[in-house]
Amino acid sequence: MATHVTIIGAGLGGLTLARVLHLHGIPATVYEAEPAPSARAQGGMLDIHDYNGQLALQAADLMDEFRGLILDGRQAMRILDRDGTVLFEKVDDGTGGRPEVQRGDLRQLLLDSLPAGTVRWGHQVSAARTLDDGRHEVTFADGDTVRTGLLIGADGAWSRIRPLLSAATPEYTGTSFVETYLFQADTRHSAAAKAVGGGSLMAVGPDREIHAHRESGDTLHTYVLLTRPLDWFAAIDFTDAAAATARIAQEFHDWTPELTALITDGDTAPVHRPHYALPEEHRWDRLPGVTLLGDAAHLTAPNGEGANLAMLDGADLGQALAAHPGDVESALTAYEQTMFPRTADTEADTARLQQSLFGDEAPPARQTRP
Ligand SMILES: Cc1cc2nc3c(=O)[nH]c(=O)nc-3n(C[C@H](O)[C@H](O)[C@H](O)COP(=O)(O)OP(=O)(O)OC[C@H]3O[C@@H](n4cnc5c(N)ncnc54)[C@H](O)[C@@H]3O)c2cc1C
Repeated sequence: MATHVTIIGAGLGGLTLARVLHLHGIPATVYEAEPAPSARAQGGMLDIHDYNGQLALQAADLMDEFRGLILDGRQAMRILDRDGTVLFEKVDDGTGGRPEVQRGDLRQLLLDSLPAGTVRWGHQVSAARTLDDGRHEVTFADGDTVRTGLLIGADGAWSRIRPLLSAATPEYTGTSFVETYLFQADTRHSAAAKAVGGGSLMAVGPDREIHAHRESGDTLHTYVLLTRPLDWFAAIDFTDAAAATARIAQEFHDWTPELTALITDGDTAPVHRPHYALPEEHRWDRLPGVTLLGDAAHLTAPNGEGANLAMLDGADLGQALAAHPGDVESALTAYEQTMFPRTADTEADTARLQQSLFGDEAPPARQTRP
């Protein structure tokens, strides 16, 4: 009988793994800290690439359903100077290979593809340890425990499973997003909506950028990127929305108003999201019966690849387990031998792209796309 797989975390990576295991008849349970699927808004749009995220969806046999989620026209892109001059413009002719979907829709698609009861909501892991018999024991916040022969940490940046394998912890990269939303943008925020166009916008300065996406409906999602130390943000009172908005907008005082409107017209209070990363090429020695995927394994500042890689990790791991029935260690070894170099290649590609776009002005964690 196939080893039951215990997955911690119902993000895109953990759910893709559970789905691929289900297709191969391998039983799995996903333990998720959040109390319910709708407990938290799932964030903005994701572009799902034909070279990683879409491969995972093919392995999950969900490509047809995925196509139904794609938001038409959103692969259009504009890069503007701070005075509004268009530096680069790309229309969406449907051939870009990076269709955009709402993250919440994609997560729901994966949830709907699993047998009822696969995800155990409201199970926040507080610790994990290896037992004398080689299995692993997971302890939840309410004191309950489960013991498992195969434990997968898909629990994101602050993984509670990672310490079984690695002493690495995420560190602040020096960059943060400040996010806000503009609703009914075409009618209520027309200058900002025009600047963004049909897809996404990037406006660049040396240590500050404004990114915006046109999400479903005519909602604009603004990500202001600032290269500042954490104590710079700590001095801003984000509970006072108007004051925080004014403080962030002040950093763009000499930018054109059609761009700063993406900050000052925000319909939601600005939210500070600091970026953390694990050391580059983070890896670990094989420990029987446990591995990591997605951000738990290779957290980086947002570079447009994280969710795609998490899904491909999940798909690859599920397929490796199916290909090595009764031999978990060979499956985990095969998975890690693919995952480690792929992560390193993606980090190197991102660095090369940043260098070609921004030259020596690129800080270490420069964003190319949220
Ligand atoms: C602002 C922003 C924009 C981004 N944009 C993009 C993009 O456009 N494209 C892209 O590819 N990537 C993007 N990323 C990166 C992407 O979000 C992550 O890489 C991706 O979500 C990683 O997936 P995951 O499944 O590994 O982890 P997560 O999505 O973090 O999922 C982990 C899950 O584990 C649960 N969990 C955490 N701790 C515990 C615990 N102790 N016990 C039980 N459950 C737990 C969490 O609640 C969560 O459901 C962006 C990131 C940010 C911050």
